[in-house]
Amino acid sequence: MSRISILGLGAMGTALAATLVRKGHSVTVWNRTPRAEPLASAGATIAATPAEAVAASDLTIVCVVDYAAAGAVLAEAQDALRGRDLVNITNGTPRDAKNLAAWAEKKGAVYLDGGIMAIPPMIGETGALILYSGSGALFERHKPSLDALAESRHLGEDPSLAALYDLALLSGMYGLFSGFLHAGALVASSGGKVTDFLPLLLPWIAAMSGTLPDLANNIDSGLHDRSVVSNLAMQTVALENVARASTEQGVAPDFIEPMLRLAARRIAEGHGNDDISGVIETIRRQK
Ligand code: NAP
Repeated sequence: MSRISILGLGAMGTALAATLVRKGHSVTVWNRTPRAEPLASAGATIAATPAEAVAASDLTIVCVVDYAAAGAVLAEAQDALRGRDLVNITNGTPRDAKNLAAWAEKKGAVYLDGGIMAIPPMIGETGALILYSGSGALFERHKPSLDALAESRHLGEDPSLAALYDLALLSGMYGLFSGFLHAGALVASSGGKVTDFLPLLLPWIAAMSGTLPDLANNIDSGLHDRSVVSNLAMQTVALENVARASTEQGVAPDFIEPMLRLAARRIAEGHGNDDISGVIETIRRQK
């Protein structure tokens, strides 16, 4: 069992530390404001400073609100970082990850970035996933400990990849949530209950998810005009109807309008007979 330090004891850091303690690791914890007593009662050691926490363990895991906070915490520990294995699983952008990786490596640390695809109660349970990128050697060295937290997936040596894939997965999630919220508002506008609507919605989403492999092939190949069964012009009429129905029902069309705008732009560029996958080309050009 490894010695592991956790810097940051918010909802997520506490779940990480508690899981590692429960699974028999020797855990040292630090938080900016005093929050560590319950973890100490469970068997963790409280460090007085980030540097003390880093020095106490083979592996340090940082999990705070954002990269500005992670940078501030690690700056306090910079003299202790040389030769240490450092994992940062704070949510941020690919550029944030690259910058922090470069800084940590300059301080002599071995750096792995990560993105947590789970909520705190899922940590240590089946279904939790943490994406990692950066030092593959560190990942292999500590994989048994990382696996105690969640399924661990290493995406490559480029430290920005975990943040990129984390945010891409969140994009899919927020697309789902925005579609769900809009659908719920439409159903509720005529007195329907969203809970009663779910048995219709969930199988529909599952069926439509089945079209994603074909759309993904179109995107990877750049060819959006093969075996099209639901062309974009037809789908845009449906999108316009969703927007008009929303206004008629007293529901703001704000969730649906961006998709309608992008589809209309793609049609104006001459691609109405293509598949809906082609809409991706309208956003890929906005550099
Ligand atoms: P949280 O409960 O709001 O806790 C925030 C943590 O950041 C606290 O430990 C806080 O310390 C620390 N912090 C904030 N500003 C700081 C600063 N300037 N210097 C030092 N420490 C600072 O957040 P959380 O849920 O634990 O989230 C932590 C990370 O996990 C985030 O990047 C989040 O995106 C990610 N995550 C969370 C979830 C989730 O469902 N909770 C899911 C996936 C990923 P104090 O206690 O002193 O304020």
